[in-house]
Amino acid sequence: MSVAFKSLAPGATLGVLGGGQLGRMWVHAAQSMGFKTVVLDPDPQSPAGLVSHQHIQTDYLDSAGLQQMAATCHAVTTEFENVPADALAQLATTMQVAPNAHAVAVAQDRRLEKAHFVSCGVPVAPFAVIASDADLDLVLKQNADQGDGQTSLAHGSPSANTDGKSKGNSISNSVSLLPGILKTARMGYDGKGQVRVRTPQELTDAFKQLGGVPCVLEKMLPLQAEYSVIVARGHDGAMVHLPIQHNVHRDGILAMTQVWAGVCDSALATQAINAAKSIAQELQYIGVLCVEFFVLEDNTLVVNEIAPRPHNSGHYSLDACDVSQFELQLRCMAGLPLTQSRQHSPAVMLNLLGDIWKQLKQLKQLGSDPDLSNCSNPPAWNKVLALPGAHLHLYGKSEARKGRKMGHLTITASTADQARTIANQAAAILGIAAF
Ligand code: ADP
Ligand code: MG
Repeated sequence: MSVAFKSLAPGATLGVLGGGQLGRMWVHAAQSMGFKTVVLDPDPQSPAGLVSHQHIQTDYLDSAGLQQMAATCHAVTTEFENVPADALAQLATTMQVAPNAHAVAVAQDRRLEKAHFVSCGVPVAPFAVIASDADLDLVLKQNADQGDGQTSLAHGSPSANTDGKSKGNSISNSVSLLPGILKTARMGYDGKGQVRVRTPQELTDAFKQLGGVPCVLEKMLPLQAEYSVIVARGHDGAMVHLPIQHNVHRDGILAMTQVWAGVCDSALATQAINAAKSIAQELQYIGVLCVEFFVLEDNTLVVNEIAPRPHNSGHYSLDACDVSQFELQLRCMAGLPLTQSRQHSPAVMLNLLGDIWKQLKQLKQLGSDPDLSNCSNPPAWNKVLALPGAHLHLYGKSEARKGRKMGHLTITASTADQARTIANQAAAILGIAAF
């Protein structure tokens, strides 16, 4: 049984499970409003732990660590998708916790997630759950029955019960799922735990390669663009949202987000915002929720996945909006009023991955293992900061590894064109391919 929410005044102590960059930016928001912060993360050098009033260095399920958190904090949130939902459930017995453990559990399992989308009536990619060799055989058989895969697109239906167990197969609107993407049901992020498969043999190999763990096979869709919507829902059910964000991924990792009025067709934007709100509503969600969408070549909207926390595609809100996603998260968990955030400047956010640290690049060119590199030879920040409207955010990570999110750069400007032009100038300085 969870405790009733009340409004917490500045001065109260708020906690976060997970100490990554999202936790760090949340700590900054909480501290600037006068709250004390506690971060629970096993890593002594965690980006959020380094800036928090208190850092509990234990595993997420360590009972002493959780007890310490319960004894110190008035409310707790999470910043890391794979924090065990059980940890949240335990804490929720004594204090207000947002988001709730159930919502996090749904977001952590692609089978539950898809089932939730379907129950909300929002369109998803055709898919099948493959949790066993028998499921695999059935999907292969269905695929063979579909012949050359030229069947017109239909939206898949869930093959998982709400407890996440496969109830066999699956695709009620028969449609070939190949070529497709096999995604592990749990623990995937930044394109990890995914294999693209074109043929039945590749699918069989990929299931084995992923260790035979429960997976979801999704049809590869013809994407025109990717968007995301961030909604914040309070304990009283009030909802606000950030403007729709246009995202560009490279190698499965978010590379760039651009946001301004008109970045998305307005009917599609409304549809996406309504879908995001209904997904949050039906989860009885409290906190900031990010919903990722695909827009297909035929202009239809498909929901991809949710993140039960602030999201990389919402970082621009720190510099381009009057209320950031981190402040919204803080307001939700502390039972404070939500106000609609207003974007005051068009913005482009570039992710700064470890790849752009010079030494790393040189090592890569020489064929060495770039993961062993450190943060010497940083990018030319002085040149980047000479650009108007450049806002640099670094997460305090000492080691620059390939694909590691080290920071981000947001460019704000008075027009979208200007923001894009300056962002591309920054990209050129940083050795990032132009957008
Ligand atoms: P992650 O949890 O790693 O973000 P996603 O499911 O969002 O995983 O997939 C990562 C990226 O892969 C997406 O942003 C998109 O570019 C691409 N992708 C994922 N699913 C599909 C699909 N069904 N069709 C086409 N592209 C896809
Ligand atoms: Mg994603």
